[in-house]
Amino acid sequence: MDFKIISNGYVAAKTYLLKDDYNFNLTTTSPEVELNRFNKAIKSASKDLEKSENTYFIIQKMLLTDPILSSEVNDLIKNKKLTAEAALKATIKKYKENLLNSNSKYLQERIYDLEDICQRLINKLINKENNYPTSPFILVCEELLPSILLEHQEYIKGIIAKKAGFMSHGAIMARSLEIPFITTNKEIPNDTTIIIDTRCNILELNPTANDIKRIEDLKQQQINFKVVEHKGMLLLANVFGNEQIQKVKNYGFDGIGLYRTEFIFMHNDRPLSYAEQLNIYTKAVKTLGEKTFCFRTFDIGDDKQIAYIKTHSKGFLNYVNNEDMFEDQIKALINANIYGKMKIMFPMIETKEEFNYLKSWVLTIKKELNNDKPLKIGMMLETKEALEHIYDFTESDFFSIGTNDLSMQLYHLNRDEVKTIPYKYIIDLKNKLKDVVTFCARTNKELSMCGELAALPEATKLFLDIGLKNFSVSPAAFKDLNDTIANYYKKF
Ligand code: PEP
Ligand code: MG
Repeated sequence: MDFKIISNGYVAAKTYLLKDDYNFNLTTTSPEVELNRFNKAIKSASKDLEKSENTYFIIQKMLLTDPILSSEVNDLIKNKKLTAEAALKATIKKYKENLLNSNSKYLQERIYDLEDICQRLINKLINKENNYPTSPFILVCEELLPSILLEHQEYIKGIIAKKAGFMSHGAIMARSLEIPFITTNKEIPNDTTIIIDTRCNILELNPTANDIKRIEDLKQQQINFKVVEHKGMLLLANVFGNEQIQKVKNYGFDGIGLYRTEFIFMHNDRPLSYAEQLNIYTKAVKTLGEKTFCFRTFDIGDDKQIAYIKTHSKGFLNYVNNEDMFEDQIKALINANIYGKMKIMFPMIETKEEFNYLKSWVLTIKKELNNDKPLKIGMMLETKEALEHIYDFTESDFFSIGTNDLSMQLYHLNRDEVKTIPYKYIIDLKNKLKDVVTFCARTNKELSMCGELAALPEATKLFLDIGLKNFSVSPAAFKDLNDTIANYYKKF
């Protein structure tokens, strides 16, 4: 079956087809009435969002109440005599076109956030009641609006959309909530039992009772499994928000090997203050307790753009160009470390000069804060340059191999291709990493791997062969990693 995977998983449930079947007049003879309707819709929609503490909804409220949006819609109603619905759609269309014309993939993905606002207001204007099921269902839609996922996350067990961006908010959320999400052009009927199984590439309509049972068994196994004996190894988790930490504990991970802090910044429309970050990091380390916790300083640029900062490529310069933001983050991390066992690492390091500069910057801040809690400072090993000069990085306390960026750089792949990297490249990477393993063993430096390849069974086996012992994977991949390790050691 032809589909594109946005978030992996399997599910068997009934579909719920979301229709955008609203009609409205384009023009009006009473602009005053339309202005009134629009202002009421804004008030009512932002009131709905007031209760939520979720960052996504907070941003949605900011966008909704942005005076520029209101004034542009008001102008169209007054001057062109458009109805509130038509004026809103025209304004959002203009914003969307501007975003589409930007070169940034990240900004282009923000189109879904605008769609979300538009849909929210239109629903208010036409008083549309939604009748979402209150039992588990698979959402079938044109495009996934993040707010729908957040509001109905209790019952949405799978998502099928006509289109979706891999880095869109909805996609990121679905992966974080471990909800299978695919895109396909196939027409999917309403209220029909279907199976999505991304591992076996199955999208099946009206499955047999046996097929449904197979999926239910798989789901059960995903939750109930025994963590394999793994003395001398660390099975760690990759997370990008505090919401995932409890799950990490429940699954039985040994700690967190990669906290992608840039997602906290990307979900906001301004830099987070020191106090806000302290609050987030403190909650995170308190939730995880005594387990090891590795925070990566914000890794922005390229595919991870932040609306309020000009960045081009990822790497060192982003810290030098945004000193205040870096210092606020480091201060917040160091002060949160009072409650935990923290490591800090820098992404995209290319030279030892870059690493040493950032390390001494962090140590200076630590000294100014009179903080004497032990803190390991290390780096991601994810650039070609760093890999070629690994012996230079004597000051780094540890390394975490980022196979995503590394394989993009070594084999000229794009991010989507990394997920289906040819086996010959995995073998080549394994050979290139042998020296790193030897260097770390000789110098007593911790070494782990946190890119997508850490969770790909055929790759994990090769990395185990060269003596890699610590793997950091997304919570959804924990069972696969666990099984791979169990099978690997059965051989001996
Ligand atoms: C990597 O490059 O492998 C990595 C883990 O970093 P990210 O995917 O966040 O760029
Ligand atoms: Mg990376």
